[in-house]
Amino acid sequence: MKVLLVAEKPGLLPELAGFLKDLGSKLGGVEAIAFTAAPSLDEAKKFTTYGFAKSYVAVAEQAFPDQLAKAVVEIIDKEGPDLVVGVATKMGNEVVARIAGAKGMPMFTEIVDVEAGDGAVLFHRAVLGGRAISVLKPALPAAATIPARKYEAPQPGEPGEVVEVKLPPSALSLVKVEKKEKGGINIEEAEIVVGVGRGFRKKEDLAMAEELANLLGGAVGCSRPIAADYHWLPEDAWIGISGKKIRPKLYIAIGISGAPQHMSAVMDAKVIVAVNKDKNAPVFQYTDYGVVADLYQFLPVFIQKLKEKLGG
Ligand SMILES: Cc1cc2nc3c(=O)[nH]c(=O)nc-3n(C[C@H](O)[C@H](O)[C@H](O)COP(=O)(O)OP(=O)(O)OC[C@H]3O[C@@H](n4cnc5c(N)ncnc54)[C@H](O)[C@@H]3O)c2cc1C
Repeated sequence: MKVLLVAEKPGLLPELAGFLKDLGSKLGGVEAIAFTAAPSLDEAKKFTTYGFAKSYVAVAEQAFPDQLAKAVVEIIDKEGPDLVVGVATKMGNEVVARIAGAKGMPMFTEIVDVEAGDGAVLFHRAVLGGRAISVLKPALPAAATIPARKYEAPQPGEPGEVVEVKLPPSALSLVKVEKKEKGGINIEEAEIVVGVGRGFRKKEDLAMAEELANLLGGAVGCSRPIAADYHWLPEDAWIGISGKKIRPKLYIAIGISGAPQHMSAVMDAKVIVAVNKDKNAPVFQYTDYGVVADLYQFLPVFIQKLKEKLGG
């Protein structure tokens, strides 16, 4: 089986290589080629050492999805891969969907696992907010994306052949980029995330969650109402199917009911803890540790105890 990995930036190639390693071990080996775009060939070459037979690199400071997709379609016409796989970033999903549309391939977003055997693959997708898995058999060639940060990079190996390709023109042009104000730690990168929900009665009370996150060296995230309805936290902190998907080592949900639209985005956390005053709150179906308590009573004591333990 021949697999074409599509990374809109070189830094995504290691996790795609992690997926490839998993697929290769199930299929007894795969042939892999890669595509990426980077400001320079040297920048791309740092990430093309994962056993890809060939890496196609589009050298560009700025690339739009339509250009990337067109460039990949040309590579597909030359190489004839059985599978085209990208990472389910906003850009990745768009690029791979455009490729699938152009080539008439079936397209599967966020496949969480692959079964393979006898040259065939079966894709697993999480459905019903992560409470069920659907198993799908694609007609090949097919296109798919894997969840961001799901697969760990394997050890790099020998560099393969690197081929520079030109990007076709885009239907878009960049007018300007305005930087958004961002505070604190990025919840997608934080190892510990404290999630806050409507159990908090006013914005000022979130200071308790901030203090807890600071003590643990983590970041504060939130359910949708906190960002979208109350605007107590920026949209960058919004966790869920319509917000960010996170994979921290520890997720602490405080005053969050545990709606599937929220929980499906935190289920890859290693450990999930919840604090909720309702012992029947759905969040407890997902937790490793549950605390049934009023957060206004629990948090001050918990923070104090942590300070004593940590010597703060
Ligand atoms: C299409 C769609 C997309 C959505 N996308 C998202 C998404 O991306 N992210 C998301 O989060 N939601 C999303 N939602 C909304 C989701 O369904 C829930 O409505 C939302 O997650 C609820 O937020 P919450 O848990 O903070 O609030 P609530 O459901 O109101 O829960 C508050 C919880 O706090 C507890 N509580 C109250 N007071 C205290 C106290 N003093 N101490 C301890 N516990 C207390 C309550 O028992 C309750 O369980 C989406 C919904 C739809 C329809």
